[in-house]
Amino acid sequence: MNLTEEVRLYGLIGDPVAGSRSPWIHNTVFNELGLKAAYLAFHVEPTRLGASIAGFRAIGMGGFNITIPHKQTVIGHLDGLDPFAEKLGAVNTVAVTPEGLIGYNTDGPGLVSVLRRQIGPIEDKKVLILGAGGAARGIAGSLMYNGVKEVGICNRTWTKADALIRDLEIFGKAHIVDREDFKNYDLVINTTSVGMYPFEDATPVDVKYLKPDAYVCDIVYKPRRTRLIREAEATGHKVVFGIDMLIEQAVLAEQIWFSLSDEQVDRARTLLQTELMKALQPTEGEKK
Ligand code: NAP
Repeated sequence: MNLTEEVRLYGLIGDPVAGSRSPWIHNTVFNELGLKAAYLAFHVEPTRLGASIAGFRAIGMGGFNITIPHKQTVIGHLDGLDPFAEKLGAVNTVAVTPEGLIGYNTDGPGLVSVLRRQIGPIEDKKVLILGAGGAARGIAGSLMYNGVKEVGICNRTWTKADALIRDLEIFGKAHIVDREDFKNYDLVINTTSVGMYPFEDATPVDVKYLKPDAYVCDIVYKPRRTRLIREAEATGHKVVFGIDMLIEQAVLAEQIWFSLSDEQVDRARTLLQTELMKALQPTEGEKK
């Protein structure tokens, strides 16, 4: 990358940020598309969030991402919010505009965009979400915001599922679902970390409990083909990979920061598919 004076800075703030794939993902796309931009990760503790945002304004950052634990607290430092981020009360992407700093959320919308492209309309789907953590919240909120027929939630810790359902009331009514009722759902999304490397032998649900023609999506992306995805494919379910959500939430952020053409968006997606597939292979050390 040629770091001339024309290059604008983009970045991620979080605590921690070590291990984040965002710098690699965004710099890979910036290079491919010839954008005059560079992306860095900034470790910002909660007490320094306001000062960091003030600094970002002062130096004219191009835009930035926000991760845990700042997704909610950053809102008080922004000048405006997109309607979905406002309703969810969480921001992961900030655009620097003539009107000031505007917050967006691309986590759930990233998966919704993937689902629309891969399985078609979602408005007629009853969706079962396994898990009730941070990812479940953004995904359930975005699905409800986009008008899915029903959202059911099943989580190991019942009280967390109950708390999530109360949190989601602003979007509508979600329900707690027991295993006997899994067969009522057209799309099942695993948002738990079960099956994630290095616990690849684990699965959050036996596919025999699912509707035979349900779509099965696992947002775990390492390994790409989790045990849940393998078993779903073996029993004839159509599947959606977590890696596509990872790519799409980054591409949506770039669409917010730059006016990318459809051709540029397709190039970014294709490149990230290839490069992430290589990057997510277990290293020699991990194989041992
Ligand atoms: P989180 O807030 O910590 O939530 C973790 C969820 O997993 C909780 O519902 C937890 O249940 C459940 N869980 C953990 N271990 C379990 C076990 N042994 N048995 C049953 N349930 C278990 O994490 P998160 O941020 O939501 O992330 C969850 C997963 O999504 C991670 O694997 C992450 O890598 C992945 N993710 C992928 C993307 C993507 O772009 N593809 C984006 C975000 C996250 P309890 O409430 O009972 O503890």
